[in-house]
Amino acid sequence: MSTQIVKTLDSVSAFLKRSHGLYIDGGWVASQAAGSLPVYDPASGERIATTADASAEDVDRAVRSAHRAFTSGVWSRRLPAERERILLRYADLLEQHGEELAQLETLEQGKSINIARAFEVGSTLNWMRYTAGLATKISGRTFDLSIPVPEGARYTAYTRKEPIGVVAGIVPWNFPLMIGMWKVMPALAAGCSIVIKPSEITPLTLMRMAELATDAGVPPGVFNLVTGSGQVCGQALTSHPLVSKISFTGSTATGKGIARSAADRLTRISLELGGKNPAIVLKDADPQQVVEGLLLGSFLNQGQVCAASSRIYIEAPIYDSLVAQFESAVKGMSVGQGMDPTTQINPVASKAQQLKIQGFLTNAREHNAELISGASGPDPQGYYIAPTLVLNPDEALHLTREEVFGPVLSLTRVADAEEALALANDSDYGLTASLWTTNLAAAMNLTPRIEAGTVWVNSHTLIDANMPFGGFKQSGTGRDFGVDWLDAFTETKSVCIRH
Ligand code: NAD
Repeated sequence: MSTQIVKTLDSVSAFLKRSHGLYIDGGWVASQAAGSLPVYDPASGERIATTADASAEDVDRAVRSAHRAFTSGVWSRRLPAERERILLRYADLLEQHGEELAQLETLEQGKSINIARAFEVGSTLNWMRYTAGLATKISGRTFDLSIPVPEGARYTAYTRKEPIGVVAGIVPWNFPLMIGMWKVMPALAAGCSIVIKPSEITPLTLMRMAELATDAGVPPGVFNLVTGSGQVCGQALTSHPLVSKISFTGSTATGKGIARSAADRLTRISLELGGKNPAIVLKDADPQQVVEGLLLGSFLNQGQVCAASSRIYIEAPIYDSLVAQFESAVKGMSVGQGMDPTTQINPVASKAQQLKIQGFLTNAREHNAELISGASGPDPQGYYIAPTLVLNPDEALHLTREEVFGPVLSLTRVADAEEALALANDSDYGLTASLWTTNLAAAMNLTPRIEAGTVWVNSHTLIDANMPFGGFKQSGTGRDFGVDWLDAFTETKSVCIRH
């Protein structure tokens, strides 16, 4: 075994061995359901933990606890500065337990320990502290009104932003800790209670974060966590009548189903969904910047990033030279387990995801597509996919339009920027895009015409707590992050005072 492999902390081994339940009312409780769900290490395919498979009754208990906590005012009516201080302490606890959480994430999700440390822990800390600060910035506006009756009366109105109630947070498996905190933090900063459901594939880090919330001083019931399947646990949570708001991140298909069921009660909903994100490379782009930036943008976390660049349109004069550089980079990538920090490509998160990606590649081969692949994984039981380039895919290939969510990148030769733009916009998705050029006029002309919630110029996939993020078209509704983030977790109340 390589000496490079990070030694698993004793605290991580002990956590994995625990008998896991549901986190309700500030502590672990047993599920009332008989079933359980396995958690596998994607590097070996071995079971590393077993979690509860919550029933609808379990979910009801968690939501009622959150609702009790909300209506009691123990958190929702607490001074904003106190909420801020507790949430900052929560971030400090993540920092103190950073290595433990990074290792848990690598073991359950497969990603590189470097990425787990830098993003799941490091970036999440930035988001947590930014969002904690929003608790003390919640504000409305004041208005003079022109109501003329009765004669002589005057009216002044103001708006209050009030916490919306119980939030249901539904989390995918690609960045479990970070995306989980993107739900917990704005909900708690706004004064809401939350019931969170991690993905059944990667529940462990959020389970640990539930305990740390209590340690930080979040009152019992304000942060509850249920583990289970989407069909039973997720469905029971998103359709629960005491849930006022659903914050969902996941696939477009699941998001649409949740939106349909939310319509019955007009439950407030934010949807952060899939993407098929284009990059447009103009002939004056800096080639080194393009190759480095798009390798990161496309292969980070094995391409399991909603914002990942997955189709690149390159102007003809520089196409061959860029393809050669991408080819050499992909063939040189080291593939191995995430706990080995020297590896660049790691297993994908689940057997199902591995099979799904292999299906896209089989379909491409059946249509004689030109594929260039790097190394395959070391362990046949692990969920490895070799990093792969697809040259000039046509409409017959499923991967041309569908989200692959794997280390697969297509490169297409285009005549000019207009052809690239037309192809880039020809998608049901509209999450992110990037434009690569040294021509300022071209950048300013093209960015408003790209149909995407985020457009980067000369970078891709880099996000920040202060920059709103969300999708055009079928990539979702609503925006996360930024100074207005808590708007989605509050209701606006107008108060009209006659005087
Ligand atoms: P998914 O839709 O399969 O599952 C997401 C979550 O929804 C899981 O917790 C799952 O258990 C739950 N779920 C499934 N069915 C449900 C139901 N009927 N009711 C309630 N909950 C249900 O998605 P995934 O495979 O876990 O994640 C990958 C997808 O997430 C990709 O499409 C990716 O683009 C998207 N994603 C989007 C963003 C973004 O910010 N836009 C970020 C990360 C991932």
